[in-house]
Amino acid sequence: MPHKEFLEEYSLFRKLKGGIPATIDQLPRPAINMNCSNCKSTQTFNMFNKYVDELGPWNAPCGNARLRLKYKCQSCKDFTREFSIYISPELDYVYKYGQYPEWEIKMDKNLEKTLGKHSKTFRKGLVCESQGYGIGAFAYYRRITEEIIDELLDSIEELIEEGHRAEYKEALEKTKNTRVTQDKINLVKDLLPTILKPDGLNPFGVLHSELSEGLHAESDQDCLENATHVRTILTFLINQIIQSKEAAKNFSSSMKSILEKKSKK
Ligand SMILES: [Zn+2]
Repeated sequence: MPHKEFLEEYSLFRKLKGGIPATIDQLPRPAINMNCSNCKSTQTFNMFNKYVDELGPWNAPCGNARLRLKYKCQSCKDFTREFSIYISPELDYVYKYGQYPEWEIKMDKNLEKTLGKHSKTFRKGLVCESQGYGIGAFAYYRRITEEIIDELLDSIEELIEEGHRAEYKEALEKTKNTRVTQDKINLVKDLLPTILKPDGLNPFGVLHSELSEGLHAESDQDCLENATHVRTILTFLINQIIQSKEAAKNFSSSMKSILEKKSKK
């Protein structure tokens, strides 16, 4: 820490916990991959300033430190990015309190298309997240989940392996009898196809617990964690469903043309 993912992905004020060394000479200076406005593409950025320039001497304590991390695009050697980070006195967490250019409120293309009229709500969630307003972000993402859950569950049906489809269909019917999103998820979460379970992790299991927990989380900080997880899972599910269907479609059409060619011989 601070690691690549923290710099690239974390919104302002979202805490990264643990793994913080005691002195600044131990702090890593990871390369990151982000968009360059000059190159108009994703490029590698390297940190070009040193922590000692900010804080000095080399063994200055990290606790309660505010540091600036300056990055330069390795391709054009011109475009720069900057992060301001704060490390807690007890070294138990770090967060960004500033970033230039600002954390991008950018929506995934697939997601925007799929969400349709709900994409506005999603964008509001992103805006809240970018400002560290966890309670607001969580509320927006939760609202979206509630609004799209039926469609989402319906669209999974055709991805289910043949042998399990009847079982899924039965559970799907039952989901229509409840209006509570968590109950719907509970009914189908153990029936997901392997393609929606990366490394055996069950996104619906996590979604279920995040939605339940998030309701009781009190601070913006706690809600921000839950909100980020809900957003990540929704994005994963929607993209994965689209891609799987595309892949299946391409596969069957190329199989068809192979078989047609064979039959002509
Ligand atoms: Zn560049």
